[in-house]
Amino acid sequence: MKKLLIFAICAFVGVACAPRTEKSADEKTPREIAGEYLLKDYDPVSIFNVPVTLVDRAKYGVIDMHSHDYNDADPEKIAAWVKTMDECNIRHTHVMHCEWIGAPFEESIAAYGKYPDRFSVWCSLDYTDIEAEDWEERAKAHLDRCKALGAFGIGEMVDKGLGDVYARPVKGTHIHLDHPKMQSVLEYAGKLGMPISIHVGEPIWMYEPIDLHNDGLMNGANWAVDTTVEGCYDYDGVMECFVNAAKAHPNTPFIACHYLNMSHDWERLGKILDECPNVYVDISARIGESAATPRATRRFIEKYADRIFYGTDNGTSADMYRFTFRILETADEHIYQPDFGYHWAYSAFDLPDKVLRKIYYENAEKFIKKYKN
Ligand SMILES: [Zn+2]
Repeated sequence: MKKLLIFAICAFVGVACAPRTEKSADEKTPREIAGEYLLKDYDPVSIFNVPVTLVDRAKYGVIDMHSHDYNDADPEKIAAWVKTMDECNIRHTHVMHCEWIGAPFEESIAAYGKYPDRFSVWCSLDYTDIEAEDWEERAKAHLDRCKALGAFGIGEMVDKGLGDVYARPVKGTHIHLDHPKMQSVLEYAGKLGMPISIHVGEPIWMYEPIDLHNDGLMNGANWAVDTTVEGCYDYDGVMECFVNAAKAHPNTPFIACHYLNMSHDWERLGKILDECPNVYVDISARIGESAATPRATRRFIEKYADRIFYGTDNGTSADMYRFTFRILETADEHIYQPDFGYHWAYSAFDLPDKVLRKIYYENAEKFIKKYKN
């Protein structure tokens, strides 16, 4: 009897545990098929029959306030860049200087200096031996020298939480704008009339938990900031640090790159611009974030049109420039960008001509006139 029972159980388990035959693709339901795809592989193609308005040349001659030396100061590549700028109606480009891309400052100045009407070059702060007693004097002397060589401003500085880690030749790791030794140097930059272009934080998704509720999950994961590292500021920490510095040095102009990485909350950014008249923003490299909410973005741009600069920060290709023109100038909707960072479609801003002129060149012209050597 006992043997029989064991046999019966084994027979039952055997049936229950027998390998299930995989369903063929034809047998799967659409929900089953969709459930097997991974978000990272999602590559949708827009099916809408809506206008597609390609813009070859910007409507007005543009001043790009945020680019980099993508050419390692190579004369041939720079000449090709000038040609692309001509084709796309980019009149002038500001070349940021930093650790992660491009030639050292002196080489950049020499190479781009051949086109004084087309390029301006910015410099870094020199953090060498910041703990030494004479650092503030050395840092100021460095700025004097860079300015004399033709540097327009200081940047791109950065603080995503770990300090100015883009600086060259020495990274300013854990050096935030609230560092005691920075105060006289920030003040001196204003005295010299050298604006500071600074990348503060990252888009908010990079600080949110990487889980199923993260609104910008895949791009958030690509650029996630680990604020658990000792000494790292979190999103609110870097923003507070920046705003305090802008308020403490009202004669030093700051350009907060990428809409201060605050395009998820225009109200908060507007308040900062209201409180800090020396703060400007550039629109560079934040189409993915700002074109998710085109009407809110347009309202912000219209309201703060005098404080916003055009910028790219995204290579030198004609297609790159043209995509920015399409987003700013047209009313196109449901656009997917080829390098699909966020999993949403973009819609363009359809900015009025008066605002376009300000963003494309009028604000920059005024600014350059005020701060150029
Ligand atoms: Zn940049």
